[in-house]
Amino acid sequence: MRLRGSDARKNIDMNVLENIIRMQIEQAGPMSMAEFMALALGHPEHGYYMSRDPFGQGGDFTTAPEISQMFGEMIGVWLADTYMRCGAPKQFVLLECGPGRGTLMSDIMRVTKTVPGFQDAMQLHLLETSPTLKKVQGEALSNYQPQWHDMIDSVPTDAPIFIIGNEFFDALPVQHLYWRDGQWFERKVGLDGETFMFVGTDAQPDHVNLIPDHLGAPSNDDIFEFSALSRSLISAISQRIKAQGVAMLFIDYGHEKARYGETLQAVKAHQYAPILDNVGECDLTAHVDFGALGDIARSQGLHVSRIVDQGSFLKALGIEMRAQNLMKNANEVQQNDIQGALARLTDPKQMGALFKVMAATSYDIELAVLV
Ligand code: SAH
Repeated sequence: MRLRGSDARKNIDMNVLENIIRMQIEQAGPMSMAEFMALALGHPEHGYYMSRDPFGQGGDFTTAPEISQMFGEMIGVWLADTYMRCGAPKQFVLLECGPGRGTLMSDIMRVTKTVPGFQDAMQLHLLETSPTLKKVQGEALSNYQPQWHDMIDSVPTDAPIFIIGNEFFDALPVQHLYWRDGQWFERKVGLDGETFMFVGTDAQPDHVNLIPDHLGAPSNDDIFEFSALSRSLISAISQRIKAQGVAMLFIDYGHEKARYGETLQAVKAHQYAPILDNVGECDLTAHVDFGALGDIARSQGLHVSRIVDQGSFLKALGIEMRAQNLMKNANEVQQNDIQGALARLTDPKQMGALFKVMAATSYDIELAVLV
């Protein structure tokens, strides 16, 4: 490693993770962006999610379940409905991917308590890598004996399964290919002295093959963004649903049809930040390519729903009526909060249109809202 007196010393003190990545690049050459992002978010000791609770006012960002209980309640209604429609199995696995603070699941639990048989038949499983968030989830869900998994492989295979996730796929690593002078290159992270910078290397043919035909011929500097981990996870999730029976539901910000362009962004304290700065201190996310996820689920033999806006989905499940009911017993300040949260979750100018919902099932049951 290159040392430049007090400069290098300052860097070591300031950001251990940046130094770890610098050392890897110096030894092995430019790093794929997916690896960079995986380390920034998930390095076992210094990764963004590993040591902190990033949600809410004092954190870096807010998610739908943290805005209002009504979000989780509507997901609970959807799950209860799907459970009844598929014949109320005597035993089933409920798996949440990336449960954050466990807020979504505790709201789901409050709603499904009233559904005959649901909670007796349920075994709760959580896919989560962050030790800090596992602890928070354990406190929120202590009545339901959840079991945690770092990887989907260890989730039970012997019962029907419902798999859900909110803002899970957007946290998984992405990579960029770019087109320059008649050729695809991969954008990697290299070094200019001590500073991280993007560099180009020849793209791998198996990555180029992922570019869907509908994108058409590229022009100079067009970027193709993809997430290899999201692809392999949706494939594993789909195989489970096909083999064990029943459904998945994912909500995230993203698009139904991929276009050329990049959506990777860094956020710190509710503000955008440069992607290569303050590594491990910012949340990194990218828009989810629901078109690609849906195609993979379909290729595994699942019935894949329409991709619906979050606002329409929540309204069709009755969120407005729920807000009216909550307001009946609320004071003026609480009523304003409920109305504000309803708008934030459903208004197309806020989260209503940018966030999408996708479901898929093992057999052709009619899903509420999503047919
Ligand atoms: N669903 C929550 C949290 C979203 S943030 C909410 O809506 O509030 C993303 C979540 O995914 C966090 O819990 C994070 O720790 C988890 N996560 C990120 N990468 C993961 C991975 N590779 N495997 C499992 N969980 C992961």
